[in-house]
Amino acid sequence: MPGKVIPQPDDLNLELFRAIASTGEMHVQQCAACGAYAHPPRYYCARCFSPRHRMRAVSGAGTVYSHTLSHYTTEPAWKDDVPYATVVVELDEGPRIVGAARHPDPAAIRIGQRVRVVPEPRTDEFSFLTVEFDGVPVPGSAAAVGEEAAGA
Ligand SMILES: [Zn+2]
Repeated sequence: MPGKVIPQPDDLNLELFRAIASTGEMHVQQCAACGAYAHPPRYYCARCFSPRHRMRAVSGAGTVYSHTLSHYTTEPAWKDDVPYATVVVELDEGPRIVGAARHPDPAAIRIGQRVRVVPEPRTDEFSFLTVEFDGVPVPGSAAAVGEEAAGA
């Protein structure tokens, strides 16, 4: 079975994902003239129309703006992952980013929960954007395994 397709960003998206890959930190585009943040990156600032920008490191912290739970996939490489949750995170800086939830019970996800967008590198030019929930151990992590061993 073929593996999951790895997107190959280009242009401004490539600039963004290279910034993420080179540092391991979440980044978003920021206008160099007025400081407004934007995602996905764009050629002209939506606030002041300046073409000048930079990719700025951010914490990835934000809140769940929206979410959906997928019980079916047409993509064979994703069959073992269903059901999986896709989350729209509103970053504290303002932009909204879509990411894959890392949650042991995706049906328990609620709008307004505090989360963090965390890049998971796949290549030098692309990272999956995952969403971790404050106070909820990431499935498969040392903390989650410890809780499972303790019978939690
Ligand atoms: Zn601007």
